[in-house]
Amino acid sequence: MCGIVGIYNHPEAANMAYLCLCAEQHRGQESAGIASVDDKKRFHHHKAMGLALDIFDARVIASLPGRKAVGHVRYSTTGSSSLENAQPFLVREGQGGLVVAHNGNLTNALEIRHQLEASGAIFQSTMDTEVIMHLIARERSGVLADRILAALKQVQGAYSLVFLSDEVMVAARDPKGFRPLVIGRVDEAYVVVSETCALDLIDATFVREVLPGELIVFDQDGMHSHMMQPTEVHKAYCIFEYIYFARPDSHIFGRDVYPIRQGFGKQLALEHPVEADVVIPVPDSGVPAAIGYAQQSGIPYQMGLIRNHYVGRTFIEPKSEIRHFGVKVKLNPVQDVLKGKRVVVVDDSIVRGTTSMKIVKMIRAAGAKEVHVRISSPPIKWPCFYGIDIPTREELIAAHQSVEEIRGFLTADSLGYLSHERLYWFEKLEPREWYCDACFTGKYPIPLTDAPEIMKESGCGACKKD
Ligand code: AMP
Repeated sequence: MCGIVGIYNHPEAANMAYLCLCAEQHRGQESAGIASVDDKKRFHHHKAMGLALDIFDARVIASLPGRKAVGHVRYSTTGSSSLENAQPFLVREGQGGLVVAHNGNLTNALEIRHQLEASGAIFQSTMDTEVIMHLIARERSGVLADRILAALKQVQGAYSLVFLSDEVMVAARDPKGFRPLVIGRVDEAYVVVSETCALDLIDATFVREVLPGELIVFDQDGMHSHMMQPTEVHKAYCIFEYIYFARPDSHIFGRDVYPIRQGFGKQLALEHPVEADVVIPVPDSGVPAAIGYAQQSGIPYQMGLIRNHYVGRTFIEPKSEIRHFGVKVKLNPVQDVLKGKRVVVVDDSIVRGTTSMKIVKMIRAAGAKEVHVRISSPPIKWPCFYGIDIPTREELIAAHQSVEEIRGFLTADSLGYLSHERLYWFEKLEPREWYCDACFTGKYPIPLTDAPEIMKESGCGACKKD
């Protein structure tokens, strides 16, 4: 997953972009980068592996002059975790250049890449985003917006994009709107970010979301909207953004994230009640749902696990060995809260199951009498091809095991998942056809051109919801 930002017409554009990246750091922790264009139309660029806070200091920001900048934080969902795959991605064109920052995954990038390579194209990275830049480069007619539109018509999948040329900034969102993208204003500047929590940090006012299928050009006359194609009947907003990914203080897809997550917890308490002494979250991702569970059930809420905030979020690191180690580094139980208690522990999701299993053991070792696991999402059975790092089907525990088998693996006294039905019903996420929940159902709203075997296995054969 990734977080993106674009700043148009601000005297400290790179600094603003940096602040926004810090607010969006949860969307990707492998690498971060900023590119700017100065008044003489020169491009400046800095990217590195690691966190925005560590990569950028006053000296680096000063080396990124200009009133326009784009930024990106990344963890790899396509392409490897390496500097050449870090973004923003800059290409030189004649005297000028073009920069892009991308959130999402294309589903036909490999196919297009093979075609381009067959006709002589050379790629610098293994990112799907580079395909878009090649397609734009090949479109010779029209202004930049026309060339981008023509390129985007050829790609499929999930993309929220911000481009920067030496003159304009362009934002675009795929016709199904998988990933969020919002517009804000601060002073004379336009700001485009993945999540509104980044607008809050720089005191920008929320203008609106970039619409699914919309391309917006920001220039000295303001912002100009173009529709890439007629709005799709059914969007495919990623339900996992609400469950886990977006920050709870953000407003995306027209709704605030926090109350939705809390509502998932309330519904979970109704669906899977249990007699217990204390409700604890797996911090931080399980907190709003655990509060909801406690409110609905009347069982006291406590912090039974303390998170070390100075180590990275697990799962971001692609190597599983690091991840297993990460649970212990990240979480420590509070004996006083757990000892002798019947504990309900709430988390947002189970992916491989290894984190939850270690947490259950940790809580029991701290003296808990019973451990009841409650998950504020349905079982994840299918990988994501639209930008969330949900791994292969082999690695997804719920793809191969029943709820009872998973309970056994976790060594929990009971296990309850939020049902697919209630996920939508309670929080009135309607119409439900507007959400992509392929990770639960295997119903992929956009054909997986580059992964035909999964299409076959899910029996979905382009099970478009519209
Ligand atoms: P696992 O051990 O694989 O079951 O890990 C589950 C934990 O990973 C849960 O606490 C989730 O909050 C978190 N998680 C779920 N999906 C993701 C993701 N795509 N990226 C990072 N963390 C995730």
